[in-house]
Amino acid sequence: MKINKKINLKSLSKDEIITLIEKRELPRYRASQLIHWIYDRYASSIDEITEFSKDLRNFLNEIAFISNLRLVKSLKSSDSTEKFLFLLEDKQTIESVLIPEKDRLTLCISSQVGCAMGCRFCLTGSGGLIRNLRSYEIVDQIIAVNRIIQTEAIDNNHIPTFVRGGKGGFSGKKITNIVFMGMGEPLANFDEVVEALWRIVQLIGISKRKITLSTAGIVPQILLLSEKAPEINLAISLNATTDEVRNTIMPVNKRYPIKSLIDTCRKYPLQPGRRITFEYILIDGINDSLDDAHRLIKLLEGIRCKINLIPLNPHPGSDLKRPLERRVLEFQQILLKNNLRALIRESKGQDILAACGQLRAGHTL
Ligand code: SAH
Ligand code: SF4
Repeated sequence: MKINKKINLKSLSKDEIITLIEKRELPRYRASQLIHWIYDRYASSIDEITEFSKDLRNFLNEIAFISNLRLVKSLKSSDSTEKFLFLLEDKQTIESVLIPEKDRLTLCISSQVGCAMGCRFCLTGSGGLIRNLRSYEIVDQIIAVNRIIQTEAIDNNHIPTFVRGGKGGFSGKKITNIVFMGMGEPLANFDEVVEALWRIVQLIGISKRKITLSTAGIVPQILLLSEKAPEINLAISLNATTDEVRNTIMPVNKRYPIKSLIDTCRKYPLQPGRRITFEYILIDGINDSLDDAHRLIKLLEGIRCKINLIPLNPHPGSDLKRPLERRVLEFQQILLKNNLRALIRESKGQDILAACGQLRAGHTL
């Protein structure tokens, strides 16, 4: 087998790109140009970097290359959510979901292939963990989708003209917000996710305020995240108000029970004006009683937070059901009356299997 000894430029951190350039005795500004072409111009090969002379491109091609996620399939929902299935170098697949809203364009990204947490309601969890994603594979979901958006805009003439932006980049539609709510448990792939977060902030240029990481509650890693990563938003998949119930739907709770999780949330250093998001999937007859709503209020007392109530998105192979709409509204009302911020959030793109892991499950290579 031919082993590719060339360096994958996307696998390098900013400092590593600078070192590579300096070692080859190239001027340092070449590093900034490389970063600009990879992260702002979405160059998929060294040959696309037309700012470099042919000689320089040839030289770089000798020692390096730019890897790319390969788009296998994309599906657009009637609510304009768009889901992408990407192929990795080892033929594994991951999903990313683009969610256009009035004033933002959010990409929901994956942090692992599969997931080891085994939550009962989640399709990703049902297949177990296949492998962690590398930080560049996490970041590359954003680059790949930005490139697709840009190409579509040029093809369809959606955006009247691409004007060259101040920095020499294209201005136009781009992803503005990131949520780590795709496949995988981000805190179970801690180092790669932290590195990805830095690259998203520093190299892609998305503000840390516009990034949200969702976790099933790997307690020790939550405070560590606040020490090691940029100050992004934290979301906790809570989904139950007693250990008895949470143990049955989220096995991670046996290791890190509700009290330890909530105590950690109380200690989490929140930036001014920020709130922790608690996600609560409502499952018929399991966690949707009015007692649950009252217990939830008690649990979250004193925590600056908001709650996303998500009626279960059922999937074949699971016996769990979504509650009636009336129950969802009653549950929300109790929280609102007690001055909690509670929104009902439908999982987007139900007609395209947008809930976590569902597109991948329907695809065989
Ligand atoms: N592992 C992390 C992030 C990925 S899961 C976590 O669990 O937080 C992202 C979100 O998808 C979680 O909030 C999870 O509760 C939700 N989710 C998974 N399966 C779902 C389903 N069948 N219906 C609705 N939401 C689901
Ligand atoms: Fe993993 Fe999150 Fe799905 Fe649970 S909900 S199995 S932690 S991806």
